[in-house]
Amino acid sequence: MRVDVVEVAPGVHHARAKHVSWVLVTDGTDVTLVDSGYPGDRARVAASLEAIGRSPADLSAILLTHGHPDHIGSVEHLRRVHRLPVRVHEREVANARGQRIEQVSEATLLRMLWRPDVMVWLFDVLRLKGARPERLRDLEPFTAGRLDVPGAPVAVPTPGHTSGHTSFHLPDRGALLVGDALMTGHALARQSGPQLLPAFFNTDTAQARASLERLRGLAAEVVVPGHGPAFHGSPDVAVRQALDRSPR
Ligand SMILES: [Zn+2]
Ligand SMILES: [Zn+2]
Repeated sequence: MRVDVVEVAPGVHHARAKHVSWVLVTDGTDVTLVDSGYPGDRARVAASLEAIGRSPADLSAILLTHGHPDHIGSVEHLRRVHRLPVRVHEREVANARGQRIEQVSEATLLRMLWRPDVMVWLFDVLRLKGARPERLRDLEPFTAGRLDVPGAPVAVPTPGHTSGHTSFHLPDRGALLVGDALMTGHALARQSGPQLLPAFFNTDTAQARASLERLRGLAAEVVVPGHGPAFHGSPDVAVRQALDRSPR
């Protein structure tokens, strides 16, 4: 059980566990954490900070692309212990708090258990998710635009995967963090490379496709997803590939 940390752009560290990833953006001695894996990834979040010579005490803020359990696992713990601001799009607050759940239902997954890949994946992620769903408190909502946290990310709303899903553009670093707006590899995907998540994971797949258009014109050399390796290329190329690979 480990985590791989790769500096994909200056001060942009992509930390990948087996099923999901998060990003550490360094700015001098400060660090912004973008997403945080499953609850079962907590030791790996700490290990990823250690891998870049930092500790959880160096964190200044947590940003969330969205409120799914595989992205918010360590948030409450880190917020409480280190008194961190946790920022999420205003339309994602209800999902992150567990007041309006937007995620694939257990009934849907149970109907798919005949698929060996689903069975193996589900066995893994149920363990990582833990018994109690994580519910976030004390969220600081944003709408769009530049956020005043280390790395000065620009919030670009990309709804569809969830209602308030947001990507973060780091223009100074030439990086675009896309969360689950698109991914490049997943245990349940039949191919690798930029693509949408399988439709049953999305609140509104048509909207998720439309949201990719918002990423197209952004200037970046690397696109960093929540699942799969970083894509070294422009958002335009990543989006074109994602639309090609993801049938309507
Ligand atoms: Zn998600
Ligand atoms: Zn995810």
